Amino acid sequence: MAEINLFKVAQKQLDECARILNLDSNVHKILRVPMRELHVSIPVRMDDGSIEVFQGFRVQYNDARGPTKGGIRFHPDETIDTVRALAAWMTWKCALLDLPLGGAKGGVICNPKQMSQGELERLSRAYVDQVWQFIGPEKDIPAPDVYTNPQTMAWMMDEYSKIAGKNQFGVITGKPLSVGGSAGREDSTARGGLCTIREAAKECGVDLKNATVAIQGYGNAGYYAAYLCKNLFGSEIVAVSDTKGGVFSKKSLDPEKIREHKAKTDSVINFPNTRPISNEDLLELEVDILIPAALENVITGKNAPNIKAKIVAELANGPTTPEADDILYKNGVHVIPDFLCNAGGVTVSYFEMVQNFYMYYWEEKEVYERLDKKMTIAYHSVLDASKEYNINMRQAAYVVAVKRVVEAMKLRGWV
Ligand code: NAD
Repeated sequence: MAEINLFKVAQKQLDECARILNLDSNVHKILRVPMRELHVSIPVRMDDGSIEVFQGFRVQYNDARGPTKGGIRFHPDETIDTVRALAAWMTWKCALLDLPLGGAKGGVICNPKQMSQGELERLSRAYVDQVWQFIGPEKDIPAPDVYTNPQTMAWMMDEYSKIAGKNQFGVITGKPLSVGGSAGREDSTARGGLCTIREAAKECGVDLKNATVAIQGYGNAGYYAAYLCKNLFGSEIVAVSDTKGGVFSKKSLDPEKIREHKAKTDSVINFPNTRPISNEDLLELEVDILIPAALENVITGKNAPNIKAKIVAELANGPTTPEADDILYKNGVHVIPDFLCNAGGVTVSYFEMVQNFYMYYWEEKEVYERLDKKMTIAYHSVLDASKEYNINMRQAAYVVAVKRVVEAMKLRGWV
């Protein structure tokens, strides 16, 4: 996994789009690299009294369409190129959903699993102390990503507000409800993904009520995907997994019970009345819908020929390599590309920003309806482009998004 440079993957995808659109080479040059990035060293007092210096990043990829937006990931394997790739994808994602935002991403190289709550709080605040001049409600608005959560966002918002000398709820999204969060944010990524799965199922003739689903990763995205697939569609969840491995059952699994089991034992493995399955084998199961909801580069040229799912719904960012993309397309697998499928998170994050600005908060039902509308329109814009240009769904998503970013750059006189 570490051998594949994610930013090179993102650049390769853009190059392909530039070829399809016959994009002006000067515009292409600008879009291949981030506009700006900040590298910081973050000293944090650890519980044993020593000081640890963590490396952190914030990358603002392109802000032609508005302030940049993107999550902050805490991960031991974080690299600047991963952050660059994720920032690029945020740019395309916000444009595809027609949000008035550009793309950014942040990251800190750390292992949250080995840190206490106190250490995590000090790290979160210290990160803001290093990047506060670079971010802001009208500049760049972070959000949660892997191993960061609403509590992390609350600490960061509080630290930024202290520096600003006033409450600045709009500086960050994904906050808890009582400090300016939006109703419906917690399950928004999965819920948005489900809107695209529903539309894809119509396109592919899959009956969701009888559909089988396998999900890799059982965190925020994976758990809610399982829960909603079962409860909204009535689909059967036959396999789920996490870092330690997976479980399979012919009889539909109960997402809520598995979550309780994972909370107790720290993993989905050994869930009663299931058989163990590896993360690799889970991807190759004969199911209707496969949902990668963990990390990047899991579907590669090697295993893509063995993927039997009719629909691959990419809730994770970057789970499929370009080589695998070609194989899946040739084999007729309908891929809902990451920056379409997982755009529900940033869409509700955008709603959260709007509510923070207005100081007026919507009910859950209103958030869900607005989310569904945005996701459905975005899915069909991609499907239409894939048919018009005779290209795969990822290339089509790029075509729609890149055209919008280029239009903004032209109108602003950048190119
Ligand atoms: P999370 O930290 O809540 O959960 C990640 C899950 O993946 C955990 O269950 C972990 O055990 C599992 N995992 C990690 N490495 C794995 C591996 N090698 N094999 C199998 N499982 C593994 O993270 P999340 O927020 O659910 O994010 C998951 C993916 O979805 C990421 O790619 C993230 O960028 C993407 N995403 C999340 C959101 C969001 O709002 N949460 C929004 C957009 C995209």
